[in-house]
Amino acid sequence: MAENLTLPNVRPLPWLHPLWQRLTAPDAPAAHALLFIGPAGIGKRQLAEALAARILCEQPQDDGHACGQCPACRLHASGNHPDFFRIVPESEQSDEAADSAEGTGTAKKASQQIVIEQIRQLQAALTNTGHQSERRPVLIDPLEAMNAYTANALLKLLEEPPAGCRFLLVCAAPARLLPTILSRCQCWRLAAPAPQEAAALLTGDEANALLALNGGAPLAAQRQSEQGWAPLMHRFVQEISALPQTGALALAARWEAWLKQRDTVDAAFALPNLVDWLHRWVADLALLRLGADARFFPTERARLQRQAQHFPIATILTCYNDLAQIRHAASHPLNARLLLEDMLLRYARLAS
Ligand SMILES: [Zn+2]
Repeated sequence: MAENLTLPNVRPLPWLHPLWQRLTAPDAPAAHALLFIGPAGIGKRQLAEALAARILCEQPQDDGHACGQCPACRLHASGNHPDFFRIVPESEQSDEAADSAEGTGTAKKASQQIVIEQIRQLQAALTNTGHQSERRPVLIDPLEAMNAYTANALLKLLEEPPAGCRFLLVCAAPARLLPTILSRCQCWRLAAPAPQEAAALLTGDEANALLALNGGAPLAAQRQSEQGWAPLMHRFVQEISALPQTGALALAARWEAWLKQRDTVDAAFALPNLVDWLHRWVADLALLRLGADARFFPTERARLQRQAQHFPIATILTCYNDLAQIRHAASHPLNARLLLEDMLLRYARLAS
């Protein structure tokens, strides 16, 4: 899928067509920086890629899409267009390098962040170039994956954009953006598609269970289904349901070993995902306790309902908030085992 994204004929997903038409209409509001905000896995990146292709194209089609035929489109398809800048975390750029280094044992963990050097290089490329193209798209995704120094370097570019630059920015967590960055952008908030539209993209019950777990984001569900996350989800449900018998500390030890297993590592399933799942599990307990429906684990509704009726709502919400805190630490845990123990002890306290 990543390879297709570099082609000029990439299309926005169906539920984003109305937005596409607004953005590409002759009277579309002009802005040098567009910011697309919405949950992960709903097609924000494809939208931005399609816009970048359109900006580069010398003769866009009537429907607003790049023609795919002109010299600029052909250059873009080759992956070498000098006026197109795609800024993503190193971990995303170096998938292939990491794959080839894996066997040698020399793989270095790639950064999940966009680092300041990338913005400096962008600035140099945009300002020192000999030729000044009028069409220079800059795609940055995810915009929130920057520390304050990097964000400030980007802010300078947004404040005084080099000639011809169109920033296409993608973000799933706007609360983590500097207000000064937000104020420089034309913001578009994208919602997850309607369940029927999302489900049309997926096949199989497992993919649909993952769709719910991802809050209705079909691309995230599709990727996880392909990576084999459905059995992981089943195991999570079985083991969290059996927690009272297993005991929190024993389950923490079991999950620590689980995260190191080959199947889990190959599926790119890691500690933050496990914390997310428990967080969503507890969210469903709260929803059911309040008389609403389960959102993330609808197929486990009966099991969740049985548990929820024994827990006071205040206790569930305390646990939910505790897990939100733990989630922040889960990307860079000092000690994964301690984090798992802390998390599961807090969850076990619900039932005590
Ligand atoms: Zn073209």
